[in-house]
Amino acid sequence: MIEMKNVSKKYDNRYVVKNIKLTFPRCGLVSINGPSGCGKSTLLNLLSSLLPFEGEIIFDGLSYKKADKNELDNLRNKKIGFVFQDYKLFEFETVKNNILLSIDLSSTDSLPKKEKRVLDLLNLVGLREKENELVSNLSGGEKQRVAIARAIANSPKVLLADEPTGNLDSENTKTVMELLAKIADSSLVIMVSHDLEISKQYSDEIIKMSDGKIISHKYYSKNKHSEKLPLLRLKYNERKTVLPLKFLFHHTYNSIKRRKWRTLLITMSTSLGLIGIGLASTLKEIISTNLIKSYSSIIDSDKLIISNKTIKNERDVISSLSYEEVMEIKNENENITDIGVYYWNLNSMFPTENYLLLDIGGNKRTVGSFNAASVNEFALLPTYKGTIYPNKIDDLNDNEVVLSIPMLVINDLCYQLQISRTIESLSNYIENFGGVDLCFNFSNINWNYSVTIPLRLKGFILSSKSLIYHSNTLWNEYIFETAASLSTTTYISSTSPHPWDLKKVYYFVFSSNRDEFLRRHRFNMEDENLDFEILDKKYYPNLFSNVDTHQCNRLGAFKRKHKDNLSSYIGEYCKKASKSVKKIIYGSSEGYSIYDQSLMMGFAKSTYLGCDYESVSELSEEMSYIKYEDSVNLSIPNQIIEGHFSKSQLNGFIFEPNYQLITGREPINYQEILVSDTVCHRLNISNPINKTIYLSFPVKENLLPNGYISREFQLVELKIVGLTNSGKLSLSHDESWTLLFFQSMLGVSTFDLKIDNLALEVVEGSEEEVIDKINRAFPFLNVTAPLREAKNSINRICGYIETIMLIVSITSVIIASLILFLCNYLHVLEIKKDVGLVRCLGVNEKESRKFIYFHSFFMTSLSLISSIIELLLVSLVLSKVLAKSLYINSTFVFNPLSLLYMFLTSLGISLISSILLSRKTKKLDPLECLK
Ligand code: ADP
Repeated sequence: MIEMKNVSKKYDNRYVVKNIKLTFPRCGLVSINGPSGCGKSTLLNLLSSLLPFEGEIIFDGLSYKKADKNELDNLRNKKIGFVFQDYKLFEFETVKNNILLSIDLSSTDSLPKKEKRVLDLLNLVGLREKENELVSNLSGGEKQRVAIARAIANSPKVLLADEPTGNLDSENTKTVMELLAKIADSSLVIMVSHDLEISKQYSDEIIKMSDGKIISHKYYSKNKHSEKLPLLRLKYNERKTVLPLKFLFHHTYNSIKRRKWRTLLITMSTSLGLIGIGLASTLKEIISTNLIKSYSSIIDSDKLIISNKTIKNERDVISSLSYEEVMEIKNENENITDIGVYYWNLNSMFPTENYLLLDIGGNKRTVGSFNAASVNEFALLPTYKGTIYPNKIDDLNDNEVVLSIPMLVINDLCYQLQISRTIESLSNYIENFGGVDLCFNFSNINWNYSVTIPLRLKGFILSSKSLIYHSNTLWNEYIFETAASLSTTTYISSTSPHPWDLKKVYYFVFSSNRDEFLRRHRFNMEDENLDFEILDKKYYPNLFSNVDTHQCNRLGAFKRKHKDNLSSYIGEYCKKASKSVKKIIYGSSEGYSIYDQSLMMGFAKSTYLGCDYESVSELSEEMSYIKYEDSVNLSIPNQIIEGHFSKSQLNGFIFEPNYQLITGREPINYQEILVSDTVCHRLNISNPINKTIYLSFPVKENLLPNGYISREFQLVELKIVGLTNSGKLSLSHDESWTLLFFQSMLGVSTFDLKIDNLALEVVEGSEEEVIDKINRAFPFLNVTAPLREAKNSINRICGYIETIMLIVSITSVIIASLILFLCNYLHVLEIKKDVGLVRCLGVNEKESRKFIYFHSFFMTSLSLISSIIELLLVSLVLSKVLAKSLYINSTFVFNPLSLLYMFLTSLGISLISSILLSRKTKKLDPLECLK
């Protein structure tokens, strides 16, 4: 069956085996004996087809010389079985798996059948019960029996056994030899042994060698049974042998398990590189998403902000309108019923010495508590509807007055006039004498100025409030300018060069539509420098002490040299110039503020909104005088929401001009308001339409030197007339709201409501177009799309982060590859024997590379898994931390692409670190490995 024709083998130019001519029979046990070093093993190895040689070997008609590698691999796999002195088993696999591997490499049969054959083999070698035992737990004899079972697993034609009993005691030697002899009954067993006695006992032929030559070849006649072994027959294929994945997995797993620390080191170093790769893209995603989200909560993506390129620092020069100018405006407006005049600086002119005196024949006594302010704040007689004593009067001369006085003053007057102290007697006195002589005395000792103006009391009104009534709307002008000959100026803001100049301002008295007038003038290009200020109790403490700002019907008329930092017509222009501009928000420093630098927008001061009057006023009260730190940390009651530009991302309520009405109607004045359904939800308002809500705004706010803040709140009632669905806590109204609500409802001075920033809401995507148009029309303006710019700069910064991360991670990937390369190198050294063994089992060179690829891949997979877990954790923590510090709801951000990058990188690392070593593995000499 096997024929060796003149076979020689030399190592280092020395023939180890020389000119061997041998023919082996089909079955029987052939022993090769001889002294150590005579070339026995070399001869056996030549038969394994793993050694080059001179001469020719023919196995079943196949010439070793002519056969290609595949044919030889196949030959080893199916026709040759190997038994080694030191067993060469996979120590950390079970007995069954060791045998099954050999079958798996060549048979296409089903697993149960293969397993059945394994059982047959184990029965044959007497190890049936050790099937699932780890090889490392077996004794030497048992191991050798497993090795024999594996060797004959594919029913080879020849079994090459190199000193099979070399490591065994006599008892085990006997068992093994009997087994080999039994196998030799049906197939050829060629055994190398230096123990001639044993050979003689069991062999059919004994070949003796010396110095690489055969010195004798003896035949012994043994009782041959020629029985087939009781093994299940399997189907075998001709395909190339493929290492089973399960085996590779087990093999790699076992070797990794034995080197935990090394595995940990590699996994850590590789996962560092992989996390770097993953983080590079995920970090960018996390940071940019959170930052953009945070910015978006302050400012919408479709907002553009317009501000002046240079901030105007000029002080306002405010003057009042002249009589002619006021009259012109009055004539154009039918809602203006009257004009009046108000003097600004009376208090500084006449701090104390000015009285209304009763003049009885030159004998002067004070009457009530009237002074210069009472003249300034006189009330109009026709508006008084109550009783006037003695008779109702419609018209008065300039030196005649009607006084509103308390009973106490009436009594005093009667006493001075020496009449009985009743209303009737005073009435009679006035009727009989045509009035009571009075005079007004204004004096200023510093200026040595004193004037006495004679007056006549023509009637009186019984009231707790001391007021002067007159029918002439400009009566105070007559008193101060005509009678007292005081000089006046229309310049209000600057200090007058003459301190004795009275600063005067004309005002309009409105019958209705005051706010409509205000709105028209605020947004009218032609009246650009006109300003109208509500003259409420700030200026008329006596007159309006019980009247709300929005009910005051007097508007002071002013001119301003520099009105707004941004002219209001710019907004109007933008709206006309581009259809993409949806709404405009006007920003002013004291009302609704827009900060283009910090992207913030909202109420300039802490504003409170709630349905319950008590709680809103209580909170306002509490906030009126409070330590600064306490005001920051004070928790707002649940039924109230707070609005402040810095709170716009902290559930603070804001103004939203671009709304969609769900129910209700548009507001028609500033007492009406639209709220978002989110507000209703938050404030628990079930039927919002026509419901009253209360808004409290600090019209004055001062930080005191003692660290306290003093605030003067204005609490107003608003009626909800409609619901919007903005999705935010928002109030809505038309565009004028951010200026005129603060003026007409809260009494914030028009001068404090200068427009200093504009925000435009534009159709998304049209930002470029609008910016371009505005830039061309108004080169002095700064137009920015804050969110887009923020996004760009965030993305730019994140780009840098990504690049740095990439550089760092590429470096660590290179380091990881090197470390893994080293680890793979060690692995190759450690598994050399296994490679040699599987080559003997017929696995080809290329296939043997799988050991190293698999190891490399296994290691990087471990790293990949751990780095994915770590990355997920880092992303989760980072998202949470960022969300917390940016005051936004945390969203888990993760870039799935980063998983792909990590996978590809791990594949790369695995290939790079194993490709060279795989060549090395391929080139390993199986027999050398087995030594
Ligand atoms: P035996 O099995 O009879 O003890 P071997 O066949 O193992 O003898 O070795 C025969 C001779 O060949 C020895 O002198 C040994 O040193 C030499 N030899 C065996 N293998 C190699 C090798 N791979 N390279 C060089 N010399 C070898």
